[in-house]
Amino acid sequence: MANKNFHLKGKGTVAVHGGNEPDPQYAHLTPIYASSTFYFDTAQQGMERFAGADKTKIYSRWGNPTHTVAEQKIAALEAHGLTDEDGSPLQLKALLHSSGQAAMTTLFMSNLSAGDKILTHYSLYGGTQELLTKVLAENGIQTIITDLRDRELAVAAIKNNPEIKMVHIETPANPTLQCVDLEMITVLAKQHRLVVSVDNTFATPYLQQPFRYGVDFVFHSTTKFLNGHGTSIGGVLLGRDLQFMSTKAWKWYVLLGGNANPFDAFLLTQGMRTLELRMDRHCSNAMAVARYLENHPAIAKVMYTGLESHPDFEVAKKQMKHPGGMLSFELKGGVETGKQFIDRLQMCTRAVSLGTVDTLISHPASMSHASIPKAEREGYGITDGLIRMSVGIENIEDILADLTQALAE
Ligand SMILES: *Cc1c(COP(=O)(O)O)cnc(C)c1O
Repeated sequence: MANKNFHLKGKGTVAVHGGNEPDPQYAHLTPIYASSTFYFDTAQQGMERFAGADKTKIYSRWGNPTHTVAEQKIAALEAHGLTDEDGSPLQLKALLHSSGQAAMTTLFMSNLSAGDKILTHYSLYGGTQELLTKVLAENGIQTIITDLRDRELAVAAIKNNPEIKMVHIETPANPTLQCVDLEMITVLAKQHRLVVSVDNTFATPYLQQPFRYGVDFVFHSTTKFLNGHGTSIGGVLLGRDLQFMSTKAWKWYVLLGGNANPFDAFLLTQGMRTLELRMDRHCSNAMAVARYLENHPAIAKVMYTGLESHPDFEVAKKQMKHPGGMLSFELKGGVETGKQFIDRLQMCTRAVSLGTVDTLISHPASMSHASIPKAEREGYGITDGLIRMSVGIENIEDILADLTQALAE
C-alpha cells in the first residue's frame, strides 16, 4: 500500500495506486466483497453507522468496499493536479452505477424536475439522446438541442429558454468526434448560474479533466476505456459539490437503485490500473490509422480530432492531452460498400461499444443510432456510409494490414 500522504506526480501512478484501501486481511488487491449486508457488533454500532459517525458499510446498494476503491480511483484521476477555488487539492465524490445509463439517470433526475429544461449539443451518444427525448420528456423536462460549438447559438438558446437549468456536454461526441469548448461553455453557463455536466467517456481523465474548467459533474460510461477490456457494463457520476453528492445525488442513487455490483467494480479497478499505458497506445494507433485512411483512395472523409482537417482540431488540442482512440470515416461507396468492408474484416472485431484493447468497428446508422430518424441523424452528421472505429492496442501493422485487405478492390 502506497502511503496516502505520499504525493503522486503522474497520472499513470495514480491509476495504479490512487484510491486503494488497506485490506484487513492484507490482500494485495481489494477483494470482491460479495455481501449484500454488513453486520453490527452492537445496536449502538448500528446506530453510529446510520448516523454517519462510523463509515463502515451497511448495505451494498448504499455502498460496498469493492465499489469504494473503484470510485476513489476514478475520483483521484479526475481530480489529479487540480485545485479548488481556495487553492486546496480538488475533492470529488464518485458514485458507481450498474451502467452509464443508470449514472446518467441519477445525474439528470437529481438535478432537474418537471418544468426545467436542459441544453445540450447535437451528436450525442444514442442512449443519452433517447433518455433525454423520451424518458425525461415524459416527465416534463424538455431538452433544447443546439450547436454548442457556436457561442452565439448557445447564448440565444439560454436567452430564449429561461427554464434552462443545466447544460450537458459530450466531448468528443459520439460518433462524429465533434468537440465542444469546455472553458467557453462553462464560463457562459456560470454567468447564467447553470449547472454543467460533462460526458468524459471518449476522453477519459488521462486525456481531459473537465473539472479544470469549473464544471459541476463529470460522467463516464466505465464500460469503455476506463474498464478497457470490455468485461463489464458500468457508469460513474462524479461531483465537486460534496454536500450535494452525499445528500441529494446519493439519495437519488440509492432510491433509483442503479448501484454497481462488486464483481464489475473489481474488474473496473483492475482495468483502470493500466489506463495511461493503454490510452497512449490507443492514441498513437488511432493517429496512424487516421493518416492511413486520409490518404486511401476508397475513403471520402476521415473524422479524427488529431487531423488538421477536423473542424474541432484546435478545441481538441486545447483541452485534450492527445486526440483519443476514436475515429470515424466515410467510404466513397455509401452503405453497400460499408457493409462489404465490415464483412471483409479478418481481425478487427465487428461490434458496437468502444474503448476495449481490441479494435472495434461499427456502423452507427444501422446500429447504435438506428432508433434516431434518418433526417435527424443526418443533420447530426451521422450519414449512412459512416463507419465508427475504436482503435485498439494491437500492433499497428496488423490493424493497417486488416484495413488494407478489407478496402482492396
Ligand atoms: C456507452 C456510452 C454511454 C452509456 O453507457 P452504458 O455503460 O452503455 O450504459 C453514455 N455515453 C457515452 C459517450 C457512451 O459511449
